[in-house]
Amino acid sequence: NGASSANIDKSGVRVVVRIRPFSEREINLNTKSITTTDVTNPRILQIDTRPPKMFTFDNVASQEVDQAEMFEKCGRPIVESCLSGYNGTIFCYGQTGSGKTYTMTGVGDQGLKGLIPRILDDLFSNIRSNNSVRYTTTCSFLEIYNEKLSDLLQDSNVKQSLQLREDIKTGVYVEDLSQEVITCTQEAMGLLKKGINNRHVGATAMNEQSSRSHSVFTINISAKENCGGVIKQRTSRLNLIDLAGSERQQSTGAEGERLTEACSINKSLSALGKVIMSLVDKANGKNCHVHYRDSKLTFLLRDSLGGNSKTCVIANVSPALNSLSETLSTLQFAQRAK
Ligand code: ADP
Ligand code: MG
Repeated sequence: NGASSANIDKSGVRVVVRIRPFSEREINLNTKSITTTDVTNPRILQIDTRPPKMFTFDNVASQEVDQAEMFEKCGRPIVESCLSGYNGTIFCYGQTGSGKTYTMTGVGDQGLKGLIPRILDDLFSNIRSNNSVRYTTTCSFLEIYNEKLSDLLQDSNVKQSLQLREDIKTGVYVEDLSQEVITCTQEAMGLLKKGINNRHVGATAMNEQSSRSHSVFTINISAKENCGGVIKQRTSRLNLIDLAGSERQQSTGAEGERLTEACSINKSLSALGKVIMSLVDKANGKNCHVHYRDSKLTFLLRDSLGGNSKTCVIANVSPALNSLSETLSTLQFAQRAK
């Protein structure tokens, strides 16, 4: 336990599994539960195959873990480190319907609200209570679909595809991406909602579309502090990412648009898995190259993954037998990130 948590600190990567409750559909299908958690050890998850498969993560959040507790596990520590000047990234990974959007955004603005509104609340309450530092916060919101980036805060009907650029001083950035100043949670949530409405399809196709694209909500924090007459400035970035559904994308038989989609999702999710794995290997002293350039997503995040950054991967899974193979593939992805 001691040794592995030391490794987690070094790589900056934390992996948390979240099991959602049974859905109505799963109850009606009369499918049984295949996930068993261990009350004495919140790091262990057993999948009830024969023989059972055991997995170890930094934390396993069972059905009973609510939105407030998820924030304590995954949100608060990252807000803290972002306020101290480090970059942070939280990913929700999992098959469509496993609870990624519920975890990241949640429902409404009360008890069921997800990580983003809770992170904003915590961030702004910290900013308000700290009078010695002057903070400026902005946000941006983009979508990566078929390896193309689009600005979700831009209202235009014609979606421009944005370019990733590199600057020697500021690192990787998205050219022409909107950045809106935010001063409170409500303002930021208004922008998030506007962005969600801007995703490029009609209402019926919306869920299908969102399951095939990655959405990246980024909060930029700039802090100015007067240290004995010298103004010190530091900036940090917090990326909150709802990934495309990880269900095995069928490329066999798919043509045209569908084939392109399948290939780009497979490509970016496997590139992400490899990048995270190399970061962990590197932290453990292995000499390896991190292939950020293998996908738009990993290149965009280059400066926010690794180094002194904090990363949290939330692997969302269903507890039901009929999702067994997708659940195993999600847990294998998450295990590799350890
Ligand atoms: P995804 O974004 O991975 O496709 P969703 O977040 O949309 O999945 O979740 C699918 C459904 O399950 C939604 O109706 C959502 O409200 C519900 N759900 C997901 N996770 C939970 C949870 N932890 N508790 C209660 N309901 C949940
Ligand atoms: Mg979703």
